[in-house]
Amino acid sequence: MKLTSYWLDTAKPAGDFRHQELPASVDVAVVGGGLTGLSTALHLARQGASVAVLEAHTLGWGASGRNGGMATTGLAIDFTKAVKRYGLDSATRMFTVYNDAIDTVEDVVRTEGIDCDFERVGKLNLASKPAHYEEFQRSADLLALHANHEVTLVPRNRIRDEIGSDFYHGAMVDPLAAGVHVGKLCSGLAMAASQYGASLHEDCEVVSLERLGTRRHRVVTAQGSLLADDVVVGTSGYSGKLLPWLRRRIVPIGSFIVVTEPLDRAVIDELLPHRRVASDSKNLVYYFRITPDNRLLFGGRARFAMSSPGSDLRSGDILRRAITKVFPRLRGVGIDYCWGGLVDMSLDQMVHAGRRDGVFYSVGYSGHGVQMATHMGKVVAQMLEGDHSANPWGELPFHAVPGHVGPPWFLPPVGAYFRFLDLVK
Ligand SMILES: Cc1cc2nc3c(=O)[nH]c(=O)nc-3n(C[C@H](O)[C@H](O)[C@H](O)COP(=O)(O)OP(=O)(O)OC[C@H]3O[C@@H](n4cnc5c(N)ncnc54)[C@H](O)[C@@H]3O)c2cc1C
Repeated sequence: MKLTSYWLDTAKPAGDFRHQELPASVDVAVVGGGLTGLSTALHLARQGASVAVLEAHTLGWGASGRNGGMATTGLAIDFTKAVKRYGLDSATRMFTVYNDAIDTVEDVVRTEGIDCDFERVGKLNLASKPAHYEEFQRSADLLALHANHEVTLVPRNRIRDEIGSDFYHGAMVDPLAAGVHVGKLCSGLAMAASQYGASLHEDCEVVSLERLGTRRHRVVTAQGSLLADDVVVGTSGYSGKLLPWLRRRIVPIGSFIVVTEPLDRAVIDELLPHRRVASDSKNLVYYFRITPDNRLLFGGRARFAMSSPGSDLRSGDILRRAITKVFPRLRGVGIDYCWGGLVDMSLDQMVHAGRRDGVFYSVGYSGHGVQMATHMGKVVAQMLEGDHSANPWGELPFHAVPGHVGPPWFLPPVGAYFRFLDLVK
């Protein structure tokens, strides 16, 4: 079993950018080489800006190369909850930004000719409790009425049309969602950005930002420093000490994935006949899909812990058992990959983007960043041009998480609380 991301293992990197000479100055320095950073660089470089992407590890090393590869519709919180919190108009507007975000991924993939198995397979939302299916019904009605967004409800007695499992109490199918090979997407974005002239730098941690003017900075990295008229930070769940105010607003939470050995076509036809991407309604969520080479990818928050080699293995064990709970016919199936990554959770589970202390940022995707991080790259490029109305999240207050000043010591009790909620609600 490989303790590495399947996506990174099966994608060709865009190149080796560990020893590139840093430019003396650029229009924009982008901190973080995930989907946010790479998409920002691509959109800015296309507009003719000089851009340097500064990545502490390798491009796509963070959540962007480690996720489930599901570009799904909908906010990280349930639509009915969003309506209660923000009112119908705002909630609907924010909900539909996720549809725009999937369109952005599709558009970039087509325009730049990125071969990354992007396919609108649709999303299967699975009800873990009967009451959750009733919530799906309420959300479906609201979405059809106010957002002109049509989903299909699948009651329990027809669920076998969608999934080879009796574990769930009904489903909601959203046809707009897509699956994508995120390793290839990251490489393709990097390659395209580089072709438009962006310079890419790996092993190049940004250690400090010295503010020289309203927006101008000296950017100090592990490989030397450069001057930047603007700085964009897209460090998501890996935001360390660089910007203490940002660290206090984002909780990194481990999410873990296992990938099986390749499965026979007949088995897949039974498990997920329409090859949809899927997730369930528990707090300690399970999500799964079929990979382009016919494996089952199965992920979840598993233990509400940080990711580390030991933690990934323990979580992988939990997920292997979960696979047989959901799909008993896979008992004994071989597991070829196991890894973990950090989700960047904001207090309100909403995206936060804007400018603070002269630095632009986009973070807080809360487990829904494949489409949104890519989309926000385009939006941040518009914001840098002065179009702040392009930012759909600009009005949201970005609160610090109480008690969170360093590593998230509170994950185990929060995890226990959510496990309890999953039992009773
Ligand atoms: C296991 C898992 C499963 C997920 N599944 C899904 C899914 O199916 N669908 C979905 O929509 N979302 C999913 N997500 C969330 C999604 O992957 C993220 O929201 C998205 O990739 C965030 O992209 P990003 O570019 O903002 O951050 P990242 O990809 O995390 O990139 C941040 C980068 O910043 C770098 N960095 C940090 N500090 C510095 C510094 N000081 N200097 C230089 N570089 C620095 C890091 O090395 C890192 O590479 C999942 C996440 C995880 C962890």
